Amino acid sequence: MVLCWSSPASTQHRRRFSVSMKSKTEQGKKLFTPGPLGTSMTVREAALPDLGSRDVVFIEKVKYLRSRLVQIAGVNEEDYTTVPIQGSGTFAVEAVIQTAVPRKGGKVLLLENGAYGKRIVKMCEYLDVPYHQESFPEDQKVDVNRVADILRADNSFTMVSVVHCETSSGVINPAMEVGAAVREIIPDCVFFVDAMSSFGAVPLDMMAGSVDFMVSSANKCLQGIPGFSYTVARRRALEKCKGNSRSLSLDLYDQYQGLEATGQFRFTPATHTMLAFCQALKEFDEEGGLQGRSARYKENRRVIREGMRKLGFTEFLDASHEGYIITSYNFPSHPNFDFKTFYSKLNEKDQVIYPGKVLNSDCFRIGNIGDLYPRDMSHLLECIEQVCGEMGIPLPLHS
Ligand SMILES: *Cc1c(COP(=O)(O)O)cnc(C)c1O
Repeated sequence: MVLCWSSPASTQHRRRFSVSMKSKTEQGKKLFTPGPLGTSMTVREAALPDLGSRDVVFIEKVKYLRSRLVQIAGVNEEDYTTVPIQGSGTFAVEAVIQTAVPRKGGKVLLLENGAYGKRIVKMCEYLDVPYHQESFPEDQKVDVNRVADILRADNSFTMVSVVHCETSSGVINPAMEVGAAVREIIPDCVFFVDAMSSFGAVPLDMMAGSVDFMVSSANKCLQGIPGFSYTVARRRALEKCKGNSRSLSLDLYDQYQGLEATGQFRFTPATHTMLAFCQALKEFDEEGGLQGRSARYKENRRVIREGMRKLGFTEFLDASHEGYIITSYNFPSHPNFDFKTFYSKLNEKDQVIYPGKVLNSDCFRIGNIGDLYPRDMSHLLECIEQVCGEMGIPLPLHS
């Protein structure tokens, strides 16, 4: 028998595909999580074409997205460039750490107030990169004055890193102020910001903060599908990194050289994800860029905040925190509350929330980012009410 790949078969396939896409399971669930995040059907559909990595159309798309990301970061292409790297967000973070810290004489000041900051500590352990870990309470912002004191007392740091939105709690750190202090006290020190869950939705002035490396991923606030992450890097800082990398695949310098020389990746690029990402950028622009997107996320946040307050849930962070990416809620004290049951019952209703990630409190998290709208937040609130009813937890809660 000869297999037939002719057009009638593929038309039939396409028809079957578009019909099946209407079914609820294939639409997927509502993700109120820090990732993977919900994406629009149009973004997912943009991933359908197969393209070779040397295809001129693909090379043009890569060029376009690299340049758009520099623009979204609010910096200019003469001084900054985008280096995408295959893999989830963590890959880009690790790529920066192990490419931008020299093998000899490097030392990193790691500012951390949560799980994502601690992940960078772990990377330095794996990589044998000398570091000083400065920890701040999980419900507090990184304190710029303390950072300045540390830098004044020891000017041998070659890099300072901070997480912009610490997604484990929802705290937004003063990245810009930290960067300004770094530049003033140790002028040649590299400043690195993990802006994974904030880029495109929370303003970060890269110039005022003198940021050298900023990372985010395709599947956070720009709402592409997962598969690659990227660094917006100051060219002058990146160009000093030749030969630093402890890894071949995560060598940001080499990746940059390859892209600049030929427009191509060294190893198989996430072609489908990158096509979807170009559509995601289009939808970002249509929504009004950072302003439009942050307005929707803030509205999501307002709806969930007011609704949860009415139900008697309390937040892990006090009201002074203005973050609108994700919110941590304390577990209710009612004896019938069990997170696993709560989570599973919501999941059965296609509502996916997330466990907490703070060390000292029992929390769960509700994200406002991704392809979510105020009506989705309202629907989640109704589901939470129903699930509490099923679990025999009377509402509103009493603390
Ligand atoms: C999501 C996220 C990451 C990366 O996580 P991946 O699972 O590797 O995509 C890193 N830092 C922060 C602050 C994040 O929110």
